[in-house]
Amino acid sequence: MTGYTVQGAGRDHARERDPVPLLPSLDITGKNTVEMPLDPYQLCPCGSGKKLKFCCAAMTEVMEKVQSAQEKGNVRQAQQLIEKQYDPENPVAWACIAHSSMLIEQGKVDLARQVLQTLLKQNSEHPAGIGLYAMTAALSGKFQESKSVIYNVFQSGSGLLPDLASEVASAVSANFARQQCWMGARAYLVLAMRLAPKEAKQDCFYELMSFDANYAIPYPFRSGQPLLNFQGDDAESKEDRKAHKLADLGCYAPAARIYVKLIENHSEDALLYHNAGLCHAWDGNEAQAAHYFHKAAELTEDMGQAVELETLSQLLAWNCVEDKIVPESAHYDVDSISRLLTVLADAGQIQRITNQQNSQIEEWAEAGFEVLDRPRLEAGVTDLKPDDIPEVLGEIFILKETPDAESDKRVIISSDSHDRLEETIKIVQQATDDVKLENESRNESMTELTQPPGVPKEHQVYYWRWGFPTKFAAKPRMELFLEKWEDLVYEKWPKTPQSVLDGQTPAELEPNSVRKYAAAHVLDALSGQRQLPFDLPRIMETLELDPLPQIKPDDEHTLSSLTAMQFNRLDYSDLSDDEMLNVMNRALLTHYSLVLDAILEELLESRPGCEGKFDRFRAYRTLSQIAIFNNNEERALAWVEKALAEATKLEKSFEPVFEWKLRKLTVLLRDPQRPEVKELVTSMHQYYGSKIPEFRNMLAGLQADLNLDVGILAPNGAAVDASSEQGLWSPDQPEASGDKKLWLPGQE
Ligand SMILES: [Zn+2]
Repeated sequence: MTGYTVQGAGRDHARERDPVPLLPSLDITGKNTVEMPLDPYQLCPCGSGKKLKFCCAAMTEVMEKVQSAQEKGNVRQAQQLIEKQYDPENPVAWACIAHSSMLIEQGKVDLARQVLQTLLKQNSEHPAGIGLYAMTAALSGKFQESKSVIYNVFQSGSGLLPDLASEVASAVSANFARQQCWMGARAYLVLAMRLAPKEAKQDCFYELMSFDANYAIPYPFRSGQPLLNFQGDDAESKEDRKAHKLADLGCYAPAARIYVKLIENHSEDALLYHNAGLCHAWDGNEAQAAHYFHKAAELTEDMGQAVELETLSQLLAWNCVEDKIVPESAHYDVDSISRLLTVLADAGQIQRITNQQNSQIEEWAEAGFEVLDRPRLEAGVTDLKPDDIPEVLGEIFILKETPDAESDKRVIISSDSHDRLEETIKIVQQATDDVKLENESRNESMTELTQPPGVPKEHQVYYWRWGFPTKFAAKPRMELFLEKWEDLVYEKWPKTPQSVLDGQTPAELEPNSVRKYAAAHVLDALSGQRQLPFDLPRIMETLELDPLPQIKPDDEHTLSSLTAMQFNRLDYSDLSDDEMLNVMNRALLTHYSLVLDAILEELLESRPGCEGKFDRFRAYRTLSQIAIFNNNEERALAWVEKALAEATKLEKSFEPVFEWKLRKLTVLLRDPQRPEVKELVTSMHQYYGSKIPEFRNMLAGLQADLNLDVGILAPNGAAVDASSEQGLWSPDQPEASGDKKLWLPGQE
């Protein structure tokens, strides 16, 4: 026992994905180990591992005062006592540890670092000093510069400071996640779990599950890849074991060096390149990782394995592309907010963001406007083609007045990139000629730790945003979006040169080459990351690629060891029912829609032995959602009908039948002109209208909103105002109805 703990600093950090350090709770007085007065033969609370008598004995009196102040809840007094004890000229270990712990708690990580440096200059082996120093390095994103001290903590972690080592690993992971170095982030999450004391393991495991379920991470990164065993001569096998051991402790850089060295004598060995790639990727050295994975892919005979390695290589290479776009903003003072609002409302290329589009804005802004690349469209226009719709270049927000805000500049213009911000500013300035925007400052709220890593400039074309006229219906909006998206990915993408393909286009890559397969999988992964519909088989056909061989589980590929990409090629026809249920759980977690869809269909339709062992209605829900996601209404309706038929047979069928009828209505309402809409609304009104008043209210709003003539009156007998927030309901705006008590589809 060292007598103090730093709880939660790294772990909460990782959970929140928030660069601001959270408050660790510190016990620096040793009160957990012993009651007052302090025993001179207990371990010193400074965490040196020595007895108090031979360590910070001179501080005993202060320690007791601090302890008593803390017990009485006098935090400020305890802090003042500690602050007074710290003397940079003559640092006593306990004073340094207590002071720096306090600073970390207050989020002053850089100051804590300086304090710890004075301690380590005097005693470079002080375990708690090293531990906290590593913590500050990890929290402030200084992993690459402070690797040796961080490694030191991992290597001694199982002994003196188990909690802290795990916290440091969590903090390193969080920083990698912030930079979108996903393989490093996941590796250090696994390490945090391994180093965690028993009671914290569950939390770490939960973290890892959340990581693997996170759509925002390209799916090939959402599973573990093991280091493989190298069979060389005795000395080489020994080196391989050493590398495994280093990697087990999170020391990936020296492990990578071992494999790079072994490659010198085995330049044709795919396994060594594979291991070198993994260690570099876990170390956050993604350019090197991309290089070694690419070599491994070239040398690997198994086609599926080679495609996976090359896919990782290309994804990592995209991360390393130099030419990236990063969001930028400009802040201004303005002499008259009301004049500015009037002028903006009149400007032809600027249009107001309504609550419907973004209900969050009103919490912090008076108003928000989209700045368009051409004149805005009038409400009510129809027959649009994708090219007719103005694109959003940027936004202008007028902030609410807040007396305690750090900056009093209330006008912000922002955009997804530097160039577009300049264009946006120019348009705003032309429109607001006689209202002065003054005292410009750029990127006020961005710091090194909040700066997003950005998107490759080559991908900017896939991130377009449209400025639709107000009240433009959801269905044509979706159709126009898909028209443009499909043109971009299936028509233009194959013919577009890519920097990660050395300037070649995917279409002109060698037929059936690993690189060509991988390019298709990279596009699949990047579409999934943004939750956009993508049909991998279709793009493979476009590129004239045969399907990859399926994987049958065997000794080499056990079900639980499959990587995310292997899992997607799983042949489950021979799996037992229990194995099938396991597979379903993993598919639900990773939510790769193509595979999830097939597995759920198999379970519902062809596995009678699984009945009663899984939630069939959840499966139907997921299947209909996937179908909607792919804009396939008929398939969605077919699943809803099947669920409805099963719900009807239940003993307590009222609620489930109502739920599934609502879902059916939701799907149908994507096209309100369908004749089934009126039919269903009428019958639901007759049956449920009197039983569920909120529902009748909702139907009345729907009737008014869609101009349906089904004779529903609101409870007070008055016609419902279609434009009111209450009356307006459509299934594509779940947030608008989120505060109502009535359950609506899509609100799980
Ligand atoms: Zn001490």
